[in-house]
Amino acid sequence: MANLTAQRWQAIQTNDACQDGRFFYGVTSTGIFCRPSCHSRLPRPEHLKLFLTAEAALTAGFRPCKRCRPTGQPVTATEWVTEIDRIIATHYAESLTLAELAQLAHGAPYYLHHVYQQQTGQTPLATLKQVRLQQAQQLLRTTTQPISEIAQACGFQSAAYFSTCFKQVFGQTPRRFR
Ligand SMILES: [Zn+2]
Repeated sequence: MANLTAQRWQAIQTNDACQDGRFFYGVTSTGIFCRPSCHSRLPRPEHLKLFLTAEAALTAGFRPCKRCRPTGQPVTATEWVTEIDRIIATHYAESLTLAELAQLAHGAPYYLHHVYQQQTGQTPLATLKQVRLQQAQQLLRTTTQPISEIAQACGFQSAAYFSTCFKQVFGQTPRRFR
């Protein structure tokens, strides 16, 4: 691992392409690593781990960023979809928009939507809703939590919206299901 010097931190902040190839930075909160010039959201310095080679970052368990492709190889569509699914599974409880999802997955929203749909036959937001409803079903089955709390815990803006989505997919209201 390499040290976060003032010069390197500066390079990350300014997306300095001159430093590309000299070091790579992994972000512990996302598990993704980038080139200094990457235009992804600026990480917090305490989440950074620096490496002198892409191999070292891979060995340390970081995945290459889709946007700046630090290994020089394109991330395949399949790998990207796996990554998007992982993000959905981790963040479904938050109010996740396509733009936020794209930022977490290091890609442009339209492109992400397109690739995801092409690979899986459904949109990323449809998958997000599916994951939320599955989690809700699980909670209805295994807990006595009020419906409104379950709705919130699964990322639905309101209990009413949750009930509508639930009924659409499962043919009955959450209350009846329980
Ligand atoms: Zn990047």
